[in-house]
Parts: sequence; structure tokens; C-alpha cells
Amino acid sequence: MRALQLIADRTLELAEVAPPHAPGAGDVQIRIKAVALNHLDLWGYRGMAFAKRKLPLVVGAEASGEIAAAGAGVAHFKPGDKVVMYGAMTCGQCAACREGRDNLCENVGGIMGFHIDGFARELINLPARLVIPVPDGVSFRDAACAPIAFGTVEHMLFDNARLKPGETILVHAGGSGIGSVAIKMAKALGCTVITTVGDDAKAEKAKALGADHVINYKTERFEGVTRKLTAKKGVDVVFEHVGGEGFNASLLCLKRGGRLVTCGSTAGPTATINLMQLFQQQYKILGSFGASMRNIRDSLSKIAAGMTPVIDSEFPLAEFDKGLARIESRQVFGKVVVLF
Ligand SMILES: [Zn+2]
Repeated sequence: MRALQLIADRTLELAEVAPPHAPGAGDVQIRIKAVALNHLDLWGYRGMAFAKRKLPLVVGAEASGEIAAAGAGVAHFKPGDKVVMYGAMTCGQCAACREGRDNLCENVGGIMGFHIDGFARELINLPARLVIPVPDGVSFRDAACAPIAFGTVEHMLFDNARLKPGETILVHAGGSGIGSVAIKMAKALGCTVITTVGDDAKAEKAKALGADHVINYKTERFEGVTRKLTAKKGVDVVFEHVGGEGFNASLLCLKRGGRLVTCGSTAGPTATINLMQLFQQQYKILGSFGASMRNIRDSLSKIAAGMTPVIDSEFPLAEFDKGLARIESRQVFGKVVVLF
């Protein structure tokens, strides 16, 4: 069977590898149909110091597929069922896993496609507990965006930032995979959405998604515009995943007692915070990573009800690196998906 392997930093190879054996007790075998790309894949492709891994590594962290076979004791899946898979090899035993909060697993074995072999291959065996059924009517392409893009945003906005109807939110990088999802989820809740983009063509697309105000951060200071748009009060929530120099400017966008939730640092992992400002303004800074099983189920329900992902582009498996290049160049608007 085909598997797309990272063999060195920035070098992918489509290899022919042995298919997995029949699934064991408690496991299912899945035929992969679509892999969605995230910034995480780009980190892995470039290579980074903290990414402990052995090469060659099968890439792909977010995917959909269909059940090819079910092992002994797996009653709730049958061949042909459409599914998505959790993006990390969690233990299934610790208190967090037993509650379905796998993103807080105490003994996680690694992120798929980043630390350990991922989903960019024709067949994979996985414990059935890491597999989530897809509702009728959702395509493989759209379902592939649920485990990380939708799940991460669901966890950030609702579990961590506790976004409420009527609140105002600043969504950074509205054209990114997660930014586009955040705009849709916040609008569906009845929030006022301000978003940032890097060019005017993306501004039009962000407005079409429902954003109330769009700021081109390359031509205007987003913190100044945000304060003006909110009559100097600031927003209730900032959806952050950029980090670097912009992090402090994001804090300045918050109203007193506002919440900043972050899941990424694509512009740099460090920031200096004014602690007096932090406590006097009573900001709440919330780190968020990944999703719970419930977040992924809820995401799939939303997609099935019509909140479909914004798709930037589709590529065949052999052109996975072209998809990564789109993310790296920041040309992207929405999700890049690789189809089998
Ligand atoms: Zn665990």
C-alpha cells in the first residue's frame, strides 16, 4: 500500500509499504480517504528541536476514512462506516482519557504524523476508542476537518473562553484554517466578529463568511482599529494563534476582565507581558491544545447541520507538499485537504 513518508527535513517520499495485519481485539482497520493539513504539519515538515521522532515518519495528523475491518469485541463499527480519527495516541487509561478529555492525557504516546506515524497512508489500524463516527451526509473531505480544525476551535471558544451569545470577539488570521472556523462558530452563536487578514482579497472572503469588521494587519494596527470599533472598550474574547510581537497588542484589545485564548504561536513562541496590566485589567489568558472527544462529535454535528469548512484547495496524496507550501506562503484561505 502507499504511504507518504517524511524521510528528511522538507523531503517527502511516496513509498510502498506492507499493509497492516488484520485488526486485533478492540481495534479497527480504516481505509483513509482524506487528510486535512494544519500548521502543525508544516512544523513537522520543516523539523524543529522539540519534535522527537524517528524518520521515516508517515505524515498526516487530521483525517477521515471508512472502516475496512473491525477486530474482536468491536460491536459499534462495521465495514463501510464513515469515521474520523483522534490525532494523538492517547493512553485510554488515565483519568483524563476515561472522561474523554484525551487532550489532557497523562501518558500520551505522541501526535499522529508529528511524533509517530500518521494518517497519510491507505490503511491504518487503531484502537476503536480513538475513532468517531461521521453523521450521514458529511463528505470525507469535510469530515477530515473535524478532529483538529473544528475540534480545536470548539475547545478554545466554548470550553476555555466560554464565549457567549452577543459578545464581541477578535479572531486573528481569519483566512487560516482555524480562523475561518472560528468566524463561522462565533457568528452562529450570535457574536460580533472582528477579524484580521493579511491582504484585501482575503478581507472580502472574510466578510463573505460573516465577519462584521475586517482589519488588514499589514496596513493598519489591529489593536488601534479594534479599540475604535468597540468605542475604546475592547472585545470580550481574543482568539489567538499567532503569538510573537502581536501577543501584547492582542491583550490591549481586551476589555477589562476579557479572555484571550491561544492555541498557537506561528509568528514566534515568546512574548513579554506587563504583569501590572495583566492583573489591573484582570485579563484571563487561556492556553488550549487539541480537543476532547466531545468537541469532535459536536464539530461533526455542526458540519452535518450545514456549518461546512471553508476549503482553500484539494491535492492528491503525491502533492501533499504543494498543500504545505500554500500554508507556508500564507496564501491560504480555509483548509487544504489531500484526497486519496
Ligand atoms: Zn490518557
